[in-house]
Amino acid sequence: MNILYCSSEAYPLIKTGGLGDVSGSLPGALQELGNDVRLVLPAYPEVREHAGPLSSIASLTLSGAPQPVEILKGQFPHSRVELYLVDSPVHFQRPGNPYVQEDGSDWPDNAARFATFARAIVALALGEADPHWTPDLVHCNDWQTGLVPALLSQHGTRPATLFTIHNLSYQGLFPKAAFTALELPDTLWSIDGVEFHDKLSFLKGGIACSDWLTTVSPTYAQEICTAEFGYGLEGLLKYRAANLTGILNGMDCEVWNPATDAHLEHTYDVHTLQHKALNKAALQQELGLPADAGSLLLGHIGRLVEQKGVDLILDTLDELFQLPVQLVILGDGEELLESRLQEAAARYPHQLAIHIGYDEPLAHRIEAGSDCFLMPSRYEPCGLNQMYSLHYGTVPIVHSTGGLADTVIDLNDMTARDYTATGFTFEPDTPAALLDACQRALAYYQGSRVDWWKLVITGMKKDFSWSNSAQQYLSLYERVCQVTPEGDAGPGNLDYPVIPPSPLKGKSPPQQSMMR
Ligand code: ADP
Repeated sequence: MNILYCSSEAYPLIKTGGLGDVSGSLPGALQELGNDVRLVLPAYPEVREHAGPLSSIASLTLSGAPQPVEILKGQFPHSRVELYLVDSPVHFQRPGNPYVQEDGSDWPDNAARFATFARAIVALALGEADPHWTPDLVHCNDWQTGLVPALLSQHGTRPATLFTIHNLSYQGLFPKAAFTALELPDTLWSIDGVEFHDKLSFLKGGIACSDWLTTVSPTYAQEICTAEFGYGLEGLLKYRAANLTGILNGMDCEVWNPATDAHLEHTYDVHTLQHKALNKAALQQELGLPADAGSLLLGHIGRLVEQKGVDLILDTLDELFQLPVQLVILGDGEELLESRLQEAAARYPHQLAIHIGYDEPLAHRIEAGSDCFLMPSRYEPCGLNQMYSLHYGTVPIVHSTGGLADTVIDLNDMTARDYTATGFTFEPDTPAALLDACQRALAYYQGSRVDWWKLVITGMKKDFSWSNSAQQYLSLYERVCQVTPEGDAGPGNLDYPVIPPSPLKGKSPPQQSMMR
């Protein structure tokens, strides 16, 4: 199959979170299965810098874009995947984060930036940008590419479309005026299109107009159809449930492999687990914690936003640090959480080390050096760090939600006895439940060493490689291509209950773009 994979980020060229990890590895895994997969990204400065040789294959005049947009072609690093870059300097040639300005607020022209990206993708999808290649299926990801299925739905003959929701809370919501300014087709301003409570929703365009929907874990696929997780889109998602599939993300086992990890001084595998203690000592030294081999060293890495539950960790510290426990946290995001973490580190200098910032090598060292990894996310579409943790023999302690519930098997009498346990899960998402899970982990850690290492090794042997998930995507692509009718111009006639977006218990309000 010819597949055009569309994303606003892909590791190692540009990454702000899990979307970057997935877009950096799934296209390669699909290519390995015998498909012609091409990845399309915006031509951000760092992408251009690291993408290798590029040639211009088209210059497009797109409505809504003030200048012609160049399509550049090259090769995605370390793969056989071909790369298209959408080069619109006025939109993408700027330093910093792809979505937000230095002060953390969204780029004010995000609607125009990602509408241009979408229009360039539509040109590629219809063979107007690269006359030598047209896709059978266009795979879009998150709100930044949500207009692609909406715009393609206007065309009689078009490739099939599949839209993956990586996080429903990032919606690309803009005032109605943006719809007019972008010169989008009038027919899209409807309940069946991009209109969402009198606003323009890029995400809704993807959900309402794509032929098939996926999200990144089976449990999250069910959760988003409920009021608690649906952000007012649950009616539409429930309506589309027959065309909604949850496929668990895989992980890149070359980038995240403790046996070959270039960021580690002491690599290891299941046969050399004694090296894990060396990584623990090195991490304690690097982050200024006492070299205490007996303490349970907990790690946490993530965006400092309400979703990830760092405030739950903060609220347990006074009790947690009565125990022989140390904690290292790497993250950046909301200022209030950053300053609360810094204050806590000053209060507990021997037990808490905080590193504010984005640091890929340190993330690898935390995965290798910690005994346990905390993920108290209020909701988690898939989550990658718990999979990296399992692979690195670092026992995850997770809130039982979304992809965390799908990947971590709680230790209880039965799962301990038959050696199927891989970690500790807790519910509800409260400091008390988190503390209880940490206490259970500590007790197990202080108990039989043989039992602890069995728990560690069971996790390390789990297969979270892309091969299984890529095969599931491929089967779905084939099915979608078979059922997609030709000539279905315009969004469908959806008849689903409209639910006003309500304030959600414990959830942050919908946001325009990823925070970093
Ligand atoms: P999300 O996509 O919601 O941010 P995921 O768990 O799916 O969460 O993926 C997060 C990815 O970003 C992981 O690879 C994680 O290691 C990485 N990451 C997050 N914050 C940081 C940070 N401050 N430094 C280094 N890597 C980070």
